[in-house]
Amino acid sequence: MAEKRCYYEVLGVSRTATEAEITKAYRTLAKRYHPDRNIGDEEAKIKYAEVDEAYSVLSDPNKRARYDRYGHAGVDSSFAASGMEGVGVDLGDFFGDLIGSFFGGGPRRARGPRRGESIAALLEIELVEAATGCSKTFTVPSEQNCRDCGGSGARLGTQPASCRRCRGQGYEVLNTGFGITTRMRCRGCGGRGSVITDPCPTCRGSGRVTLTEEVTVNIPPGVPNHAVFTYPGRGHAGDPGAPRGDLELRIQIRDDKTFQRDGHNLLCRQTISFPRAALGGTFEMTSLTGEKILVEVPRGTQSHTTVVRVPGHGMPHFDDPQRRGDLLVQLIVETPTHLTPEQEELYRQLAALEGLSPPPPKKGIFSKLKDLVSGENPPKEEKK
Ligand SMILES: [Zn+2]
Ligand SMILES: [Zn+2]
Repeated sequence: MAEKRCYYEVLGVSRTATEAEITKAYRTLAKRYHPDRNIGDEEAKIKYAEVDEAYSVLSDPNKRARYDRYGHAGVDSSFAASGMEGVGVDLGDFFGDLIGSFFGGGPRRARGPRRGESIAALLEIELVEAATGCSKTFTVPSEQNCRDCGGSGARLGTQPASCRRCRGQGYEVLNTGFGITTRMRCRGCGGRGSVITDPCPTCRGSGRVTLTEEVTVNIPPGVPNHAVFTYPGRGHAGDPGAPRGDLELRIQIRDDKTFQRDGHNLLCRQTISFPRAALGGTFEMTSLTGEKILVEVPRGTQSHTTVVRVPGHGMPHFDDPQRRGDLLVQLIVETPTHLTPEQEELYRQLAALEGLSPPPPKKGIFSKLKDLVSGENPPKEEKK
């Protein structure tokens, strides 16, 4: 197969084009290459599919971001095949029924068995699961054709009767004057061409039942937040004889208490003591995936501004899980709040070296009471 063209090039817009510019370019091109206008023109058919695909990606902010970042690989079928159908603008409605009457074609394709609708679902995973990849099983309720009547809605052994209003055609022809006739979905049968006189008791004539199916999905390591995976044929059933819709699963990664994702890197904070900050050294911590790692504290570490990079302990690259980002550890120097008598003594020596005269050691409870009586330190206002 030929190399795929850049989607921006296909639509003839710049990489910084706004949503409105993209939609405008798409509409112009889709009209130009629409199959109803280019009957028998294979090149137009290919162009139309190309334009449709480009638009389905660039009109979706998530897909567009993924495409900008990973190119076609970020939005190909294994990653998110949802781009293959026209989205947003349904050209069937766009041109209305006029095209059908201009070209005098048979019943419009839209009248045939319709493909099932897709199901959009959200899957929440932990950050560690995004790092290691995970397998998830959950249930998805979907609408399926009733087995007892095969989706016809008519009681087993009976047949839906042909609609009298449209004589089984499914559409009515309206003369709008000016010599233009247009077709409308039959209001007697909703376009099916048949009506049910004896309904199926299982589905009460609707032909549809709700089914809960178990779905197991494998989420690859390094999955980006809000990634959408498409599982073809796991959506709602179509009309009898038409394929099922898709399951479109959007990934939502929960915030982690310790680690924050920044592209391929992970960020975290660790507190260290004054002596460690001043003198340097190493400490051990546990990575997101549970490995013990040593963090090297540089001598003279400054609180909040010193960040230590631990290579290879970030997130795996989605397109190449062997490669991993780094872990960035921001060091926070903690001021001690409780000192042992020995520490108190050492800190006082340090202070003396710097020519400081710290206040006398903390008073005991009795001297505080004495102050209160003498009115030296008035009591603080009580908190409500
Ligand atoms: Zn039924
Ligand atoms: Zn009818």
